[in-house]
Amino acid sequence: MLVNGEIARTASVQAAGVVLVAGAGGFIGGHLVATLRTAGFSVRAVDRKPLSAWYQTFPDVDNRQGDLSRLEDCRTAVAGVGQIYNLAADMGGMGFIETHKAECMLSVLINTHLLMAAREAGVPRFFFASSACVYAADKQTEADVTALKEADAYPAMPEDGYGWEKLFSERMCRHFTEDFGIVTRVARYHNVYGPNGTYDGGREKAPAAICRKVIQAKQSGKHTIDIWGDGNQTRSFMYIDDCTKGSRMIMDSGIDKPMNLGSSEMVSINQLVDLVEGIAGVRLDRNYQLDAPKGVRGRNSDNTMIQQLMGWEPSISLQRGLEQTYRWIHDDMTNPAGSQIAEADKALHLV
Ligand code: NAD
Repeated sequence: MLVNGEIARTASVQAAGVVLVAGAGGFIGGHLVATLRTAGFSVRAVDRKPLSAWYQTFPDVDNRQGDLSRLEDCRTAVAGVGQIYNLAADMGGMGFIETHKAECMLSVLINTHLLMAAREAGVPRFFFASSACVYAADKQTEADVTALKEADAYPAMPEDGYGWEKLFSERMCRHFTEDFGIVTRVARYHNVYGPNGTYDGGREKAPAAICRKVIQAKQSGKHTIDIWGDGNQTRSFMYIDDCTKGSRMIMDSGIDKPMNLGSSEMVSINQLVDLVEGIAGVRLDRNYQLDAPKGVRGRNSDNTMIQQLMGWEPSISLQRGLEQTYRWIHDDMTNPAGSQIAEADKALHLV
């Protein structure tokens, strides 16, 4: 017999119909597919990459390869779905977005064509993964920064390239709601990290890059680590399980304004390195690369809005999340074929 919570969940699964995850071969998309299918949703997963390059795949999911910057591929992808999560973008960490501004801005084609296809097909609900990079640069000039609240995105002066695309696509969502009645939801992610993501090759972000560098230093015996900038720049980092949980909550909510989805546990990059060294059981000499890409001086997530409207905020500590991330990167570097999250490996999941 079903109890009340299960009845509600079953009803929401049925109401959603097929759920499309765009960018499902990527880091966050792969984890979102995992949680949706576990919750009983019927999922269609689409990514530009060949299936062999996806971080996670599941046999009971409708996995498809498609280039969602093309309207035709979007039309095929959205046919028959009831909800769309758009996590597809050409993106990476600071090293990538500071040197690939045109490519970042071309992601506008993905969100635009997905919205157009959704409108044509009558898909009622749409989620867009925006970013803290929409926030105005002049509010992020100090390491001891005041946490960014949603209103700080305007007057607009976002991260060049990547941030402008996100801000423009946020507004595209808003106007599709106003003019065409599609329910759109927008989350501004603040630095997401966790297992099954990029840790080398140029697109990796700070937590994964630092885990890799610490592992390499340990394995090589060369006890030095390169750090971009002076290490005093600050950020907050959200573990992937908080990200997938919060994204689903925002999608299902009645909130039609962009909302921060990030941790408010702010640390400096030096503190991040301290934590990873502690997990690895090493201390390394630090080589500060002052000319490397650094991004803004300080950034943190103001979670007042999400607390007030949803009674929840990301809360998995950086220490706990890094332990899982370090372990996965270590295993993947040691044995790349063997480190896919096994279904039974609940230890990797913190919510
Ligand atoms: P990711 O690079 O791991 O995943 C993005 C996926 O999109 C990739 O698998 C890529 O192949 C796919 N993609 C790119 N272009 C495509 C196209 N034309 N058609 C189909 N698929 C395409 O990145 P992620 O970290 O999983 O990020 C997911 C979303 O969240 C992105 O929109 C990103 O901008 C946003 N975001 C991420 C973070 C973060 O810290 N990871 C922070 C803020 C915002």
